[in-house]
Amino acid sequence: MSTQGTQRGRLAIVGAGVIGMSCAWRAAETGWSVELIDPAPGSGSSWVAGGMLAPVTEAWPGEEELLDLGADSLQGWPAFAGALAEASGREPGLRTEGTVVVAAAAGDRAELDDLADYLAKLDRAVDRLTGRELRKLEPAIGPDVRGGISVPGDLAVDNRLLLAALRAACERAGVGFVEATVDRVEDGVRLTDGRRVEADVVLIAAGAHSAALHPLLAGRVRPVKGEILRLRQRPGALPPPSRTVRAVVDGRPVYAVPRDDGGLVIGATQYETGFDTEPTVGGVRDLLRDAERVLPGIAEYTLAEVAAGLRPGTPDNLPLIGELADGVLVATGHGRNGMLLAPVTVATVLALLNSEPVPTTAKVADPGRPRGKG
Ligand SMILES: Cc1cc2nc3c(=O)[nH]c(=O)nc-3n(C[C@H](O)[C@H](O)[C@H](O)COP(=O)(O)OP(=O)(O)OC[C@H]3O[C@@H](n4cnc5c(N)ncnc54)[C@H](O)[C@@H]3O)c2cc1C
Repeated sequence: MSTQGTQRGRLAIVGAGVIGMSCAWRAAETGWSVELIDPAPGSGSSWVAGGMLAPVTEAWPGEEELLDLGADSLQGWPAFAGALAEASGREPGLRTEGTVVVAAAAGDRAELDDLADYLAKLDRAVDRLTGRELRKLEPAIGPDVRGGISVPGDLAVDNRLLLAALRAACERAGVGFVEATVDRVEDGVRLTDGRRVEADVVLIAAGAHSAALHPLLAGRVRPVKGEILRLRQRPGALPPPSRTVRAVVDGRPVYAVPRDDGGLVIGATQYETGFDTEPTVGGVRDLLRDAERVLPGIAEYTLAEVAAGLRPGTPDNLPLIGELADGVLVATGHGRNGMLLAPVTVATVLALLNSEPVPTTAKVADPGRPRGKG
């Protein structure tokens, strides 16, 4: 039964990144009166991200719950993107060509074999490919690459088209944008300019900045810096790959995510340096050197943008999605997977708002789990 138009209550959301805007749009559609508070909507980690929707090629031994959560969310992506296109009148930039993971040096090949063996044990089918087979699929891949695996189910999205579509969908659904900074969430929402926003329910979705907003989040979300580059193919240069290409180069991970407009996003470094968003020379050098080893043609591309963003990290690498206190929900801590996890996060938040059961895979993200974990 459609609940569109039913008045359910006032919802205030702190933070208008992919998570806050996705929840605002869908909550407004199901009858909530929504105010979205952010001094600069869409300017956080969601603006910087690469946009991979890649639970399988991100898989890591010991993180099986995250893999299940990500796989569940990925399944929801085509419907999420379709509904968003309809609601916003804009294309959110989903790409379905898939992903290859490749290795350059002999040591990198061993790491890739370990990943393939691990995924096979989990019954996640992957195809192993020789260098020649890879170059047949993606002629942009250079001669240093000796082998790899193909994971056609791992997708990608253009994060900036996604944010534009979410903003339009929010506006069409009647979400109110309040361009202000929240000081803390306590008896409603207190802004830094002294004003208060009253609400029946508050959702904290302020990404890496969430920990300062509520005492129960203290020490549970930290910024994890990542540098990323945006390149553009120039006339005469080799075309970019059509799939996402992930690689291990001398032990360092690097990825290239193509965009529909001939752009190529190269990422990403990872450091623990607090709230620092200045790109460094060393980070840019490493990314370019490693990416060029795999995709030699990029030497002819324009270097269009260098940026750094803050992934919202948690101690156990699982997000925090659920009820934090009476009338306070949280949806943050998505780390390196916030784009991927948007659909399952929205489904969980909507279930909680509308007193319905939360998706089974999302139970691991309950903020009430032992503090030592998350
Ligand atoms: C280099 C890099 C590459 C990445 N690549 C990928 C990828 O390929 N795939 C993937 O799934 N994920 C990726 N991520 C992770 C992804 O970007 C994040 O997990 C996701 O964007 C988090 O979304 P969010 O809405 O929680 O936070 P954000 O996008 O950071 O949004 C938080 C918002 O809260 C606002 N805010 C902060 N403090 C306050 C306050 N006090 N009051 C009001 N508003 C406030 C900010 O202005 C901001 O707009 C990447 C991240 C980085 C840095």
